[in-house]
Amino acid sequence: MTTENLSAVLEGVGNLRLENRNIPVPQPNEVLIAIHSVGICGSDVHYWKHGRIGDFVVKDPMVLGHESSGTVVKVGDQVKNLKPGDKVCIEPGVPCRKCEFCKGGRYNLCPGVKFDATPPVDGSLSRYYCHDADFCFKLPDNVSLEEGALMEPLSVAIHACKRASVTAGKSVLICGAGPIGLVNLLTCKAMGATKIIVTDISESRLDIAKKIGATYQLCVKDINTETALSEIKSMLGGSPDITIECSGAESSIRLGILVTKSGGVVMLVGLGASEINIPIIEASVREVDIKGIFRYANCYPIALGLVSSGAIDVKPLITHHFTLEEVHKAFETAHTGAGGAIKVLIHCSKE
Ligand SMILES: [Zn+2]
Ligand SMILES: [Zn+2]
Repeated sequence: MTTENLSAVLEGVGNLRLENRNIPVPQPNEVLIAIHSVGICGSDVHYWKHGRIGDFVVKDPMVLGHESSGTVVKVGDQVKNLKPGDKVCIEPGVPCRKCEFCKGGRYNLCPGVKFDATPPVDGSLSRYYCHDADFCFKLPDNVSLEEGALMEPLSVAIHACKRASVTAGKSVLICGAGPIGLVNLLTCKAMGATKIIVTDISESRLDIAKKIGATYQLCVKDINTETALSEIKSMLGGSPDITIECSGAESSIRLGILVTKSGGVVMLVGLGASEINIPIIEASVREVDIKGIFRYANCYPIALGLVSSGAIDVKPLITHHFTLEEVHKAFETAHTGAGGAIKVLIHCSKE
């Protein structure tokens, strides 16, 4: 085993460096993982460019990355569910396990959660990384390590679709065809939604949405809310039961509230400005429920099951590959979306 642990460390705004750190030693309940693939998330890019997301501020150097998979190389004394050689994906948020939210099963709301690459917690964009064994999930034989890295964004979509009550026969509007919009599209299809319309301002992203199963696509680049509203209704033959908003744009959230069927749900997934103007009375008098999500809880096993069974194929979303040494190029690609980038993966193993 190599004694060096190359890691991608964010030192400050715009300053991402490769640094050799010590290979960590697993605690009794932890496993040491040789990281294979790490997906770059919008939040990683945001910390790199701005050094903060809301109240989370990068004050000390922090390893980025939280969409990871790898191979177990060592296990702590108390670990029973995994052994060296097991291929796993890593659920990056470890909650306290003691508070009312943890006990109630909604551990994503735990105030004491430690989430990878959310300051001050180091992420997993490194050759070696230790994590609590019960937040590592063994990959079924037919799920690759690359697909394993996609279980994090897929879990976000599963949580969103469950909270939005996506079920067989529903019609859904998905605003935004970035990685999160697209995993929501895949999940809506797997959960039985029959009509799905996806909007975006980019034609090339809408092409991908079409390729992976959107029923209709609408480019909203140069159209106003009124036009978008009537286009959506005429394509679907009525209003969508559910809107899953993945762009965070005020105009898009407004559209979602106006177009969603009375009694339906608007699920806010994309995060933009912290305060915006929305037609709240419209939502109120038509009983359109506005909901939000924070990460996910108990979604990794569902994500793995859906991919392993063939109900969801995440492979078309993986567009770019880089080595850990090419981390700057990888982040630049994820930031600009150059070359039609959807999900950019960084491969951390030396071989
Ligand atoms: Zn993420
Ligand atoms: Zn807790």
